[in-house]
Amino acid sequence: MPFRPRYTGLIDKYRDRLPVHDDTRIISLGEGNTPLIRLNNVPAQTGKDVDIYVKYEGLNPTGSFKDRGMTMAVTKAVEEGSRAIICASTGNTSAAAAAYAARAGISAFVLIPDGKIAMGKLAQAMMHGAVVIQIKGNFDAGMQLVKEVGKDAPVTIVNSINPYRLQGQKTAAFEIIEELGRAPDFHCLPVGNAGNITAHWIGYCEYSSASGDHVTEACAFCQGHCRFAGGAVVGNRPKMVGYQAAGSAPFMRGEMVDNPETVATAIRIGHPQSWDQAWKVSEESGGWFDECSDEEILAAQKLLAEREGVFCEPASATSLAGALRDIGNGKIPEGSSVVCTLTGHGLKDPDTAIKQSTTPVMTVEATLESVKSVILDNLA
Ligand SMILES: *Cc1c(COP(=O)(O)O)cnc(C)c1O
Repeated sequence: MPFRPRYTGLIDKYRDRLPVHDDTRIISLGEGNTPLIRLNNVPAQTGKDVDIYVKYEGLNPTGSFKDRGMTMAVTKAVEEGSRAIICASTGNTSAAAAAYAARAGISAFVLIPDGKIAMGKLAQAMMHGAVVIQIKGNFDAGMQLVKEVGKDAPVTIVNSINPYRLQGQKTAAFEIIEELGRAPDFHCLPVGNAGNITAHWIGYCEYSSASGDHVTEACAFCQGHCRFAGGAVVGNRPKMVGYQAAGSAPFMRGEMVDNPETVATAIRIGHPQSWDQAWKVSEESGGWFDECSDEEILAAQKLLAEREGVFCEPASATSLAGALRDIGNGKIPEGSSVVCTLTGHGLKDPDTAIKQSTTPVMTVEATLESVKSVILDNLA
């Protein structure tokens, strides 16, 4: 067998494009390198000629794209001598922070909203030994507190306001370009704090920059950490499309939302931290924002699971829900290639999945006859 080096995570892979030194101790769990799956059955259902791919970020080590940012944030925190990290979280950031802190041998403090976090995510934070602080408030309140605490407590904030997070997350765009041989025409993402849509744009810009990897002037998004010079773009870049849950859609309202509500708890955020950046991404890329109802989101989640065998959490399905609508109405024209990011794994939120399942679990006698009769009744 030909020798192939072991995959050791995205920092090792994209080392020359990330802010690390040769002797930096990398804190990694082998994140990144997630599958880009071409949908086989769903596109036909739209009646339009489009290519839809899903980037299955649920297959990262802790089950969401947050691992891409967390490997960078924790690597840099450790390099800078930090002994503790802190974040506010709708669940997935806390799961990732807890795991990478465990790996690094440092402490993690996570602030989660009271009762509005999916079970799998809470289990992860607890299992990895994070100090879980449930606040009687929502994510936005937690974020505010974390910013205050971070001012003088000896903890490093690992929310996406930490610029290293976006640096790690930009690598998803690199992987997509390398796999497709070009950027897609449209890239659709669920939007909460809007860090991820910003990170993808940094990645696409950097990869398509004519100046290659020796750029010194900073781009408008990365606070000096990326190598994109702006200007001279040689490769193609996608239109970036951000979809929000209707009850939690500040980008649609054009202003912050104080009491966001949605079944898609991962994007139940009314005060996005990357507000200015995301507007700029939308404008520069020629994309747009839109919103999806909870019903549309859950329908897309189910469609993916039933027709493609891909199980993502509700928030993640927002990207496909929106894309399908915009393919239907022609905003995404025929002939386009579309990538939808599936941000987190379906197993994160088993309660919502079971609640909306239409196939009941049948209980029968433990006899051959009863099992056979169920099979005969249910053959497609
Ligand atoms: C964090 C998260 C999002 C939102 O990403 P932002 O960078 O906050 O816009 C969407 N889906 C899932 C599953 C997430 O965990």
